[in-house]
Amino acid sequence: MTRTETIVAAATPPGRGGVGIVRISGPKTPELGAILLGELPAARYATLARFLDAQQNPIDAGLALFFPAPHSYTGEHVLELHGHGGPLVMEALVDRVLELGARRALPGEFTLRAFLNDKLDLAQAEAIADLIDAGSRAAARAAMRSLQGEFSAMVRGLTEAVIELRTYVEAAIDFPEEEIDFLADRELGERFRAMRAHFAGVLESARVGRLLREGMTVVIAGPPNAGKSSLLNRLAGYDAAIVTPIPGTTRDVLRERIHLDGMPLHVLDTAGLRAGGDIVEEEGMRRAQAEMQRAERVLFVIDAAADPEGSALRRERARLPADVPLTLVFNKCDLAPGLTLANDPDGPPRCAISALTGAGLAELRSHLKSCMGYQSVDGGAISARRRHLESLARARTHAEEAERLLTERRAGELVAEELRLAQQALNEITGEFTSDDLLGRIFAGFCIGK
Ligand code: GDP
Repeated sequence: MTRTETIVAAATPPGRGGVGIVRISGPKTPELGAILLGELPAARYATLARFLDAQQNPIDAGLALFFPAPHSYTGEHVLELHGHGGPLVMEALVDRVLELGARRALPGEFTLRAFLNDKLDLAQAEAIADLIDAGSRAAARAAMRSLQGEFSAMVRGLTEAVIELRTYVEAAIDFPEEEIDFLADRELGERFRAMRAHFAGVLESARVGRLLREGMTVVIAGPPNAGKSSLLNRLAGYDAAIVTPIPGTTRDVLRERIHLDGMPLHVLDTAGLRAGGDIVEEEGMRRAQAEMQRAERVLFVIDAAADPEGSALRRERARLPADVPLTLVFNKCDLAPGLTLANDPDGPPRCAISALTGAGLAELRSHLKSCMGYQSVDGGAISARRRHLESLARARTHAEEAERLLTERRAGELVAEELRLAQQALNEITGEFTSDDLLGRIFAGFCIGK
């Protein structure tokens, strides 16, 4: 993959539409455009043109837009052809451009070039994919904030704080006779404390941002007939699971993606945790166990009328994942009018609902949101990925280690080294420090033509 090659792809999705756009980027673009259009259009002017085949017959006619380097999306010469949006027209145009010496673009290759040409940093490039893939308006707004550089600016602010400290410590190392005084300076301790708070703030924004993008996974578990499928259907708003009064109806893991005020919620309805079913049912149970290990929360559903004490949980406890937090959901409260939920401060949180009437559903939804620390998303959430959180967490660990080495050992060299590693971890987010491997993985997730 070299940047000396000129690439082409349809930028609009396959299928029929009013307009379809073919995009070309790379050094050969002007030469190729001149042949394809008869002459190269004036820079940045929408020009009506015919798109010609080798015999000079028009393949299509439409608008041509030429953006000379470096003032284009990719930073290279770019030509856009806005033709009629039919799959055959688009393919014929792409084929013609290939014939003239371009090659097909890989997924995300236009944006990769934009990144390599410093048009945007890596977090912004990722935000473009997130904007395209956004599953809710809140997620789209958050992606737009990241794309405009808000997240990158936060990370850069943090990086500057790390660099400042590093410079200070390194200066101290250069004056060994004064090093100890330097490192014992109270102000330095203050700065480390401020940096800790700074890290906490950025991590929190990124955590909420990641929730907006990736959401939370919830498993619905509990004994057969407690109303698990009914709860899933309630949360999803339509009949996603088959609800019948026969125990053991749900035989597979059902997935639903729904939204809680913009946050995606992946709900897994698992096969009733029933021993002694047939082989299919046992396979369902095995999957249920595996899914539960990976979830963020288990909603353990109980039939409040049949089991007001929630004793089913005691029976099943051993089979539930120990590390995943759990909420006890007393369902069918319409059949248990006198039900009062004992408040057990040591036990799991409890909710009373009726999947049949919808009572208590709003409370359950807000309980789920608060479990994830997801209050209001419009307080400036940015779009962030697991990768960003990992880098931030790694940077914070190095910064904390630096602080420990400073206070406990006054070991200037080691402090400086930890700060260097913290800086490097932060740089991975915006892409100042990346491996080809990482870039390959990120851009492979893009669509072709972006
Ligand atoms: P699952 O086996 O846990 O998935 O349970 P289902 O969702 O299939 O429900 C079992 C039965 O209980 C069905 O007949 C439902 O209509 C009924 N049911 C579910 N939730 C409620 C509820 O809140 N109130 C009442 N009265 N019946 C319910």
